[in-house]
Formats: sequence, structure tokens, C-alpha cells
Amino acid sequence: MLCPLGRLSTPSARLRRSQAGSADCVQSKLLPGKEAVKLSSEPLIAPSHPIARLPGEWEACVVGWGEPAYRGRQIFDWIHRQGVLDPGEMTNLPKSLRQRLEDEGVGWPMQVVSVHESSDGTKKLLVAMPDGERVETVLLPQIDDAHVVTQCISSQVGCAMGCVFCASGVAGLKRQMTDAEIVAQVLLGRRQLTPDQRIRNVVFMGMGEPLHNYEAVARALVLLTHPAGIDLSKRRVTVSTSGLVRQIDRLGRDFHGQVQLAISLHAVRDADRSRIMPVNRKHGLEELTDALRRYPLSKRQRITIEYTLIEGVNDSIRDAAEMVELLRGIPVKVNLIPMNRISASELRAPSGGHVTRFQEELTRRGLSVFIRKTRGDDVAAACGQLAFHGESRRSATHRGSA
Ligand code: SF4
Repeated sequence: MLCPLGRLSTPSARLRRSQAGSADCVQSKLLPGKEAVKLSSEPLIAPSHPIARLPGEWEACVVGWGEPAYRGRQIFDWIHRQGVLDPGEMTNLPKSLRQRLEDEGVGWPMQVVSVHESSDGTKKLLVAMPDGERVETVLLPQIDDAHVVTQCISSQVGCAMGCVFCASGVAGLKRQMTDAEIVAQVLLGRRQLTPDQRIRNVVFMGMGEPLHNYEAVARALVLLTHPAGIDLSKRRVTVSTSGLVRQIDRLGRDFHGQVQLAISLHAVRDADRSRIMPVNRKHGLEELTDALRRYPLSKRQRITIEYTLIEGVNDSIRDAAEMVELLRGIPVKVNLIPMNRISASELRAPSGGHVTRFQEELTRRGLSVFIRKTRGDDVAAACGQLAFHGESRRSATHRGSA
């Protein structure tokens, strides 16, 4: 008897389904069961791969195979708590069940191709999926406590948003990543840690716009924060978006504002933002800031505003003053990020002194502001830089002025 959630499809079938987009996914709803997660907007999509199943879904599977339900919870524990994806190593399962899991295709949905370690401890993993596509994920030990690690993960192969300062945007969207591929980055990331390190924060700031792949990201969020698995605190998972307003509302409803939200702002006037971030032509700043005001934050939470400082583009004192007005009444903290140079663009960061002056102006006007230290410079740790290394590039500035 087949698992009631369906046998693992072939990589090419999964790819076709990913490329078909969300309409396909929404038709294959999660089977009802005690694990069915009550997202406010609609049920989670069905898992794309066995490793994306929740404990209740595993229970339904194994009961369908004639095994007791607790075996399902054991399998989830092996995969998500212990990071063991080879059924042969799941030693407390009967041999017949291990064989069944092999037949179902339980295993890694991606492999690490290379690990680049920076002199500052940052590790960048290039991972490959069965169809040959590659993405990257970065492990960033905390500067003052290297035992605590933040992992930056990708959600799409490439990105459709076309931000001019971003290497991922230069190449365009190749395909969506599946829920399993998104979570597997963290499972693979854990294997790179030293015994005294742990991943405490996960940020969706790698390749891709996570809210443009909402269904897969939503299931990944449920898996990453499941108490029987990786068990990250929702407040320690940050979804960063360029400003997809409807999906910001949906994320707020589905996760009750508990998932941290970060906004890539990068400019404070519509004309300027539309030039460097094409998404702004569809959802302007007024619409975006209205969505931020609606996001259901708890009292002590704040939305993170990401602001890449680009010399001569968005780094004037007038920009600082207008940012304060734009964000008035929204609980925020601002991260200033001196731009990482990408070879596709002539744009660059302002001088260190100018970055400090910009920060002081915002602070003087009442905002909490941090300057994000550029990490992993020697391993090209800005999103998209490694996976697209060597691909043909268009002029980033042309994309921004279209
Ligand atoms: S900054 Fe983010 S949204 Fe913009 S192109 Fe890069 S990955 Fe996509």
C-alpha cells in the first residue's frame, strides 16, 4: 500500500511541479490529521518530499503501511532532530521499515558541493540539487560568541525581483525551491558545526524572495520551528522580503506575527526605490508601510529594516531624514549594510565615515540603528555571488532604469 501522502515523485516530476507554481501545489492539500497546521489563510501544501513531512503525516504514512503510529514520530526524530536521513542508520526501526523508507526515497534532496571558509569564521556552502541547480547557504558565527551561529538560507534558485545591487537578481528566477530543499539547508548546515556550536537564528536572506515562494516557505517555517525537530524559536526565524504586500499580510495572519519580518527598504522615495527595486513599481512605499503597520507584532517585537547604502544613490542626509518620516509610528530597527561589490554593477558602498554620519543622523532623529559588518568578504558571502559565479551577466544598472 502506498503512503497516503503519495510516493516521492522523480526529481524531474518535482521540478515540473515546482515550475508549475503554486496553483498545482494548492490542489494537493494536506490530508486532515492531528498535525494539520492551522494556517489562517489555507492549509499547508502537501510535502514535496518525505523529509518535509510533519510527525502526524509520518504517523498517517506508517499506519497505512501496517506499523504502529509511534514509528512515524521516530522517523521524524531521526530526520529533523538527529539529522540522519539515511534509513540504514535509523537503528531503532525494524529492517523492513528501513527498507520501506529507502523505497520511498528518504534521503538527502541536495548535496554539499563545496565549503568555503572565511578568515572570520563564516562558512559558505554551495549545495547542488538533483536537477543540477545550485544555491548557497551561509553559516555566520556570532562575532562575540562563536558558539552561536546564524544561518542564512536560500528560498529560490535565482530571483525574479531584479534588484540592481544584488547578484541573485541579475540572473533572474530559475525555479522555486521545495520545502524539503529549504529545510535541508539547515540540516546540512548543522553538520558543518563544531560540537560546541549551534544554530540559533535562521534568516531567509540568501538567494531568492521567500514570499514569492510562499507555500514552500510556510511549510519550511513549520518544520524548522517544530518542537519535535529542529525546534527553532519562531522569533529567531526571520523572513526578509523586498515588499510583497499581500504575502506580508498572509505571513502575519498565518504565523500570528511571531515570525520575524525584515524589509529590504534601500530607498525612501518611490522614484528612487523603483529604480533600484522593480517591485516598488507594483507596491509603492505607502502600500508597503501600511502593510508594516498591519503586521501583528507583539509589544517588544520590531520589524527589521534592511538598508543597503549605495554611494550617491541613497546615502544623503536628506535620505536619512525622509526615512525617519516614512517609518514614523512603525516599531523598527534599522540595519545599515554598506553595499557588497558585485562584478555586474558599478555601484559601491560609501566611505566608512559617511556610513557613520548616516547612522548618527538616523539615531539623532530617534531610530535604533546598527551597521552590519560585512562578513565573509573573502568567500563572496553576499547572496547569489557564489552560485552564479561565472555565469553571463547583464548590466545591473540597465535593469534598474528600465
Ligand atoms: S535583494 Fe532579494 S529580492 Fe532583490 S533580487 Fe536579491 S534576492 Fe531577490
